[in-house]
Amino acid sequence: MPEYACGSNSGGLTKGYDCLQGVIIKGIGGFYYVRAENGRTYECKARGIFRKENIKPIIGDRVEISRIDEEHGSIDSIFTRINSLIRPPVANIDAIVIVAAAKNPDPDFYLTDKLLLMAEIKGITPALCVNKTDLESSEKIKEVYRHSSYPVFDVCAAENLLPDGLIEFISGKTTAFAGLSGVGKSSILNLIVDNAVETGGISEKIGRGKHTTRHVELFELKSGGYVLDTPGFSAFEPDIIDAADLCGYFPEMREYSDCCRFRGCAHIAEPGCAVKEALSEGKISPERYQSYTKMYEVLKNHKKWEV
Ligand code: GDP
Ligand code: ZN
Repeated sequence: MPEYACGSNSGGLTKGYDCLQGVIIKGIGGFYYVRAENGRTYECKARGIFRKENIKPIIGDRVEISRIDEEHGSIDSIFTRINSLIRPPVANIDAIVIVAAAKNPDPDFYLTDKLLLMAEIKGITPALCVNKTDLESSEKIKEVYRHSSYPVFDVCAAENLLPDGLIEFISGKTTAFAGLSGVGKSSILNLIVDNAVETGGISEKIGRGKHTTRHVELFELKSGGYVLDTPGFSAFEPDIIDAADLCGYFPEMREYSDCCRFRGCAHIAEPGCAVKEALSEGKISPERYQSYTKMYEVLKNHKKWEV
């Protein structure tokens, strides 16, 4: 983050009083709601300069604002983004919690693995969360990810059960929640957000109201950090990477890939492949390897990603 530099671009307003840093938590109809360092939320317009330069502030942007009064301000500058997602447009995501249901719907390992790949590419720390553990145990999902090093948290939103580990994982971070529709993301987020700080103007609960237009919004946690409900996030398309680099994004596979007989081994049908040997020894799960081969084909043929 650059040094506090509001005085330089605030048109000479008194530094420290009229200038504040904050985070865009919501955007509606050309207004941006900025949660500022003083704990207040300001309704802001972006300066004309952004439009001229074709820059659009997005949710999650760290910004500097000039305060107009106790509720209004204008966005003067946007700090460099550590990362950004296109759909939905959000910036500075530290972590992603990929939610699956133990049952109803059954886990979709390919979707989970695409989200994990996206996280690895973007430098976002991933974790898995298995909901509906009242219906079925999380054993199967844990088995699939046993060698991957990703944390897996058991949740039962129906019984208000959230593990401390999950709360610790999201504390102090900006965390997106993703996964198939129906797995219980809204239920989990509502449990988490019950713990959230009231951020002026945010009172409605997270939910998938049938007739309401949903918008992306950051919810501030008491323990520090934000959670982000991401409608439509399950259909996210990862950046296109080179097929040859794919293995490097699978933590439990990359450790074997240097030991293959041939350099540039694709780990598909080559002789002396250490990855396939690890697979046969149960050190890589068949589901993860299957996702790898499917992704490899997609990348090799430059087809569009499909869920
Ligand atoms: P979303 O589409 O991922 O946001 O999922 P919702 O939070 O809307 O939940 C989908 C359905 O699953 C709703 O009918 C919830 O009541 C139900 N549900 C959520 N959590 C649990 C759970 O832990 N156990 C069971 N049995 N059902 C749950
Ligand atoms: Zn190989």
